[in-house]
Amino acid sequence: VKRSKKVPGHFWPLQELGVRCENYYTGDGGKKIGLTPEILREVGLVDDTLWIHPSVMSKLEMASMKILAKGFHILVKDAWRPVKLYRHIVSQRKMKGLHVEGLINEETMPHATGMAIDVVLVNPTTNSPVMMRNHARDGQESIFVNYYTRRHGDDCREFQRLQDILIFSFIEVGFRLGSKKEYWHFELPALDTAVRF
Ligand SMILES: [Zn+2]
Repeated sequence: VKRSKKVPGHFWPLQELGVRCENYYTGDGGKKIGLTPEILREVGLVDDTLWIHPSVMSKLEMASMKILAKGFHILVKDAWRPVKLYRHIVSQRKMKGLHVEGLINEETMPHATGMAIDVVLVNPTTNSPVMMRNHARDGQESIFVNYYTRRHGDDCREFQRLQDILIFSFIEVGFRLGSKKEYWHFELPALDTAVRF
């Protein structure tokens, strides 16, 4: 793991804890909004490593054990997101006419503390992410907690069940949902006063 000088010294690379990771912004997510390797390097992301504040580690481990007991693995898709990256994301999204409000918290920037993570369930047999919503059919609204309690049909019930497994496992060990109420975003409560990097 390569550590850029811009990564806070006390942060940990999530990969080294044996947690499956993918960095949304150095990967497809960044490409989608036109983040160049130069921009990513400039903000401190020199490779796909996900960085977290050490206070997250044990709780994340506990949540993943609970999820394992329910028959799933986890994949973390985003963790520390530098303040400068937030600014780039917001301006790139605005430039491309994409959602910002309701999706990116510009004011509190929870990922800039290193104490917020985005997580999805993985099927241990196929080793691929589990479908937890139907974006093509249900659109943007389906990213929000409890969307599927208001919908009928077998797949909606299953989506809600899967999202509940994820959410309750994280809440039970001390995480909370973010202000945007996406079903995949979890953060630690000390966040309001936490330092952003
Ligand atoms: Zn998030």
